[in-house]
Amino acid sequence: MSTHLQRAIIHVDMDAFYASVEARDDSSLRGKPVIVGGTGRRGVVAAASYEARAFGVFSAMPVVRARQRCPQGVYVRPRLARYREVSKEIFEIFHEFTPQVEGLSLDEAFLDVSGSLRLLGTIEEIGLQIQNRIMAETGLQASVGMAHNKFLAKLASDFKKPAGFVHIPPGEELRFLDPLPISRLWGIGRKTEPRLRAVGILTIGQLRRCDAQSLRGVLGNRTGHFQKLAAGLDDREVAAMTGERSISHEMTFDVDVRKATELFSELQRLTEAVMRRTRRQHLAARTIHVKIRDHRFRTHTRSRTLRAATSSSQSAFRMAKALLNRWLGEHANTPVRLLGMGVSGLQEPDVDPSPLDVTVDGIAERYGDAAITRGRALRSQQD
Ligand SMILES: [Mg+2]
Repeated sequence: MSTHLQRAIIHVDMDAFYASVEARDDSSLRGKPVIVGGTGRRGVVAAASYEARAFGVFSAMPVVRARQRCPQGVYVRPRLARYREVSKEIFEIFHEFTPQVEGLSLDEAFLDVSGSLRLLGTIEEIGLQIQNRIMAETGLQASVGMAHNKFLAKLASDFKKPAGFVHIPPGEELRFLDPLPISRLWGIGRKTEPRLRAVGILTIGQLRRCDAQSLRGVLGNRTGHFQKLAAGLDDREVAAMTGERSISHEMTFDVDVRKATELFSELQRLTEAVMRRTRRQHLAARTIHVKIRDHRFRTHTRSRTLRAATSSSQSAFRMAKALLNRWLGEHANTPVRLLGMGVSGLQEPDVDPSPLDVTVDGIAERYGDAAITRGRALRSQQD
């Protein structure tokens, strides 16, 4: 790999953020199993302190179930406005280290500190300063991951949670990645994992070393994408939020795709990922974008602005699908090399996310940013 473009990326993730804010604001809660969640009959756990996790309570679990597992827990209603305030303080700290900050949710961000290295020290020195500053100014604990790309930095921050501090230097990525279970790879969902296991692939190292042709039977057109990640390669940039904010995901296929059904499945996967990120930032989107690059490297974009902003995966997908469908009508049989989906016109939503979206988000949270798709919508692309 070339070294001249070496980046220095830090991923910061607050430990049990909502629950930690509650315990910090109310000292009587400290050291107790704190569970933040809706109190209604259909309430879902939004965050659980590490003490509560010891009882088997996790985010996205129905509160009713959490109460069975941990009757002695302290159940607190979420105070989103308060979390937003604290989040603002934390992001202000980030911005003292670099302008390149990409927030993933209220309590999680990527920082590209490549330009700060000379001035502020090594990546580890900067990571430590950030962790200490957050603790000193907010009294909250963060986990910090450091690496030369986003994928590795995010894995690193999660590696020794809570209060993690892990650096994966260039050259060490395989030693670090190879023994990890395949579920740690972004996009390997609960559907794909058992299929990989069935062919004897349990670790990231095995996936990396496997012959691409035989992997294709399981991973299809995304084989190249996964093998790159498994080799620790990820060239996505930290998307600093300046001016017009947008969130997008795209996928380059191993082999150009002509089949509409395959494009719709991929579009749905991308839409789920984009909308999940939108909701994690407590936002809704007004404009839906679809990006198509064909076999001759011509890039087409289509977009449409809705009358009211949405945070629902289903409505966003309906719109994205219509845009893609129209393009397919105009470009019959054109092989597609890359497909992207994005949203802009982001604003705070008028309505709370649907219970289905909340549940799906919680599952994704627990099992990594895996591709969780709603099977029904996947199969009925005619509706
Ligand atoms: Mg967190």
